[in-house]
Amino acid sequence: KVPGASISVDELPLRDNLRGKSAYGAPQLTVPVVLNTNENPHPPSVALIADVAESVRAAAAELHRYPDRDAIALRGKLAEYLTRATGVRLSVENLWAANGSNEILQQLLQAFGGPGRTALGFVPSYSMHPIISDGTTTTWLEAKRNADFSLDVDYAIGEVAARRPDVVFLTSPNNPTGASIPNAGLRAIVDAAPGIVIVDEAYGEFSEQPSAAELIEEFPAKVVVSRTMSKAFAFAGGRLGYLAASPAIVEALQLVRLPYHLSVLTQASAQAALRHGDETLSGVATIIAERKRVVAELAAAGFEVVDSDANFVLFGRFADASASWLRYLDDGVLIRDVGIAAHLRVTIGLRTENDVFLEVSRRLAATDL
Ligand code: PMP
Repeated sequence: KVPGASISVDELPLRDNLRGKSAYGAPQLTVPVVLNTNENPHPPSVALIADVAESVRAAAAELHRYPDRDAIALRGKLAEYLTRATGVRLSVENLWAANGSNEILQQLLQAFGGPGRTALGFVPSYSMHPIISDGTTTTWLEAKRNADFSLDVDYAIGEVAARRPDVVFLTSPNNPTGASIPNAGLRAIVDAAPGIVIVDEAYGEFSEQPSAAELIEEFPAKVVVSRTMSKAFAFAGGRLGYLAASPAIVEALQLVRLPYHLSVLTQASAQAALRHGDETLSGVATIIAERKRVVAELAAAGFEVVDSDANFVLFGRFADASASWLRYLDDGVLIRDVGIAAHLRVTIGLRTENDVFLEVSRRLAATDL
């Protein structure tokens, strides 16, 4: 018997805005083919593993001390990387880092959202945006995407102007649907926004679109670009997210971050992963090539596939998406039911994993879906 198991969540003095809500819950199952959380399928190289191990070993000698609270060395390396990746000259004062971009988003809402404030997103989009809003008691506002999941820029400008949210989320490429927001449209929405605009570029490296980092100079009080090492850098387990913004926005986040939030071990291993960045990022092209193959083969099997600039694709149409999700699982393939009617999302994996997924897909298409 588990001590305390007689009480349920409903009986706790929980804050009203959390009552009845569900936790983030992508299933973590042990099956042969795992294509459900948009991870990078390429494991770290032997050289990267050795560098992480050696860096952590060296850092362990300092474990009796707190880490650098401001993670200056790591932020400097992130600034160098993002400058190269985006063509926008960014310095250490423009960068901030945290335990995954989820923590970045949480810190942003702690500083710029909160009680009496609102955050607006265009749905369907990343499920954590409303969850982090609830967690910070920021009122979540929803606006729509088009039927093909693209964003109607004029409509978005109208929503932003009419509802005047303190924070706007723009996810580009959008998870779970896949396409990016063209930069001209993005700029126009930022221009119309009264407050902070968080451009969530978790999948930025997979897209041809220029980064919204280009807009920081023009809109220093508004634009925040959120990025992560979880996807292109194949570092999801290392938990390292970051943002680029004006120095003032980075300074504001110091008010809400917990001191020493990035451990010595995290800072050391993230820098090791960045040293091997060129090698890791060369895998992005392989994933994009595989995405194109998966899209073509799904279409050939009769599926509708939503345009994607990311490392996943949303596809359909299923008569009953959750029943079909289970049929993939029965065949050892874990994909994602993101709650969009008639659709499922698959992460692009290794060629062999994609082959198994496509095989099951063809079999489903040949029956009744
Ligand atoms: N933003 C988007 C759009 C995502 O899809 C994800 C991961 N699924 C994240 C942020 C958070 O990733 P992490 O915390 O691993 O950086």
